Amino acid sequence: MIDYSTIERIITAAEITDVVGDFVSLKKRGVNFLGLCPFHNEKTPSFTVSPSKGIFKCFGCGKGGNSVNFLMEHEHLTYPDALRWLAKKYNIEIAETEESAEELQHKNERESMMVLNEFAWKYFSRMMNDSEEGRTIGFGYFKERGFRRDIIEKFQLGYSPEQRDAFVQEALKSGYKQEYIVKTGLGIEKNDRFFDRFSGRVMFPIHSLSGRVIGFGGRILRSDAQAAKYLNSPESEIYHKSATLYGINFARNAMVREDKCILVEGYTDVLSMHQTGIENVVASSGTSLTEDQIRLIKRFTSNVTILYDGDPAGIKASLRGIDMILEEGMHVRVVSLPVGEDPDSFARSHSSSAMLDFLKENETDFIRFKTKLLLEEAGKDPIKRSQMIQEVVRSVAIIPDRIERTVYLQECSSMLGVDEQTLFTEAARIKRKLWEKNRSGPGGRSGEQDYSPETYQPRQRQYDHPVDAPEPDVMPGALFETEEREIIRLMLNYPDKIVIELPGEHKDEVIPVTVMDFFLQEMETDNLVPENPLYARVFKEFQEKWGTPGVNIQTMLTNSQDPEISHLAVDLLTPGYQISKIHEKGGAYVRSEDQIIKILAPEILASYRSKKVKQMISVIDDQIHGYQGTDDDVLITGLLEDRRQLEELRKAYSKELRRIII
Ligand SMILES: [Zn+2]
Repeated sequence: MIDYSTIERIITAAEITDVVGDFVSLKKRGVNFLGLCPFHNEKTPSFTVSPSKGIFKCFGCGKGGNSVNFLMEHEHLTYPDALRWLAKKYNIEIAETEESAEELQHKNERESMMVLNEFAWKYFSRMMNDSEEGRTIGFGYFKERGFRRDIIEKFQLGYSPEQRDAFVQEALKSGYKQEYIVKTGLGIEKNDRFFDRFSGRVMFPIHSLSGRVIGFGGRILRSDAQAAKYLNSPESEIYHKSATLYGINFARNAMVREDKCILVEGYTDVLSMHQTGIENVVASSGTSLTEDQIRLIKRFTSNVTILYDGDPAGIKASLRGIDMILEEGMHVRVVSLPVGEDPDSFARSHSSSAMLDFLKENETDFIRFKTKLLLEEAGKDPIKRSQMIQEVVRSVAIIPDRIERTVYLQECSSMLGVDEQTLFTEAARIKRKLWEKNRSGPGGRSGEQDYSPETYQPRQRQYDHPVDAPEPDVMPGALFETEEREIIRLMLNYPDKIVIELPGEHKDEVIPVTVMDFFLQEMETDNLVPENPLYARVFKEFQEKWGTPGVNIQTMLTNSQDPEISHLAVDLLTPGYQISKIHEKGGAYVRSEDQIIKILAPEILASYRSKKVKQMISVIDDQIHGYQGTDDDVLITGLLEDRRQLEELRKAYSKELRRIII
């Protein structure tokens, strides 16, 4: 822990141009400095540093902040580590609170293991370069596979001799404790004998994010061997296989720069890609991806491209794992290599630019990829087809972003030839099931994003007690009159106006979302239907007729056979109604609705959702009130938990609302 006065001193001392200047070359422009942004690829500088304000801002990608933010972003440091970095630069002594004896011992143990691993990789490297056996067998292997000297050195590759205890003897002789040789897994104790784990293997050191060696992978070279082809260090204090990605330390900067992580399977895949000049590559080392690995990637980029060799069986097996990446809100693309090629062989036979071109041309969005794959497999079999649809919808349903989900469901609907509404209903059902599972699971999940009105189920259903919830004392729908009328009005007046633009599949491609689509999609996904029966009827008309060629929504409604609808339509389309009340009282200058529709539409929706949740909370409050004094603790606890989660959701919505208004 760093105490507050020290933090203040550090921040005051940090000179923004000085700090940024360590990483970016800056040129003075007027009162500011200008450079090429380190966070995105650009040719003309849009990265500005203001010494007077002590901040940086990129007008290309939007990144900005102070010195500490810059270091956190650029060097991927935590807040305290960024402060320590600055303290070192400006020679400020940090008063940190003392570590306990236990903490210290723990730290020493980890450090001892790291130091031993460093000794080990240097030993293996020396063995490969300086011994006859190492040169012939170890180096010979890498050379035969076409790896260049600089790549071998960069990845600190080595060779562990055939002699069964060569390494452990050397380590003991150099003063390393047997305890740590065992703990790192470099040596094995068995029946009073002490021998090497990796003898007769070429060695791939596995690095931590900061580049220290935390474990090893060893590949056996004898073809007659009974032993496993690849052997890894065992789990230890410093090596957690499930939280490690091979190559992450070499890939991290490129991952940020390219805003993409390429995922391959093995060590040599990573090496070959680096050799061809593509550095944003990591390997999951054979295991299917874990949550920790996904989070690790997410620190640097939200885009993952998975490179497969052309074997369909392997691809199918890993489909489930990929759902986890989607669940984290990341974007997954897939590239299948030509049959008979793996990333290693393909990278070796192609130049960097040919490889990049191939990736660019063959990248397929994961959902589309999965749909196509399963579609081919299911053929015309109706049972298989329905299973497949469930599979695909499941992948879509777990995507946290509502609008993205909607776009996918629409696309799947056309690819699968299934009615959109059916898919939306199915997705809502799956989401509800997942949410219920998460909620009842051990510890539950806070589930801020999972918890949406569409999945909310009043708890009372689960009990036999008759619940006398008081009747609401207002007309149904009256509570939401303002928002609902406003939503219908905007849909009717500006059906074609663009509310948002979603990023498309390719760079620079955007998918515009119109007012009509925006409300239809958002409300359908949340299973929201206007409470006012008249508005509900109009909304249904929109759902059914929107997009029908030759239909003008406005004339259709004003000429409706239903007099109530036509009356309402005329009312809402009459000018004079056009300036939204909220913005009228806001200030002297009133922009036309037309200009601010991008703000107006999301704002109304957020306000509508927020009110809906508030209503659910008040229903629960009434129930809690009704149960007080009945000693039904289980029920009340359950209701309170429901209430807490709704409260969280409400906060999220009002935050969204504030963000929009600001
Ligand atoms: Zn930028």
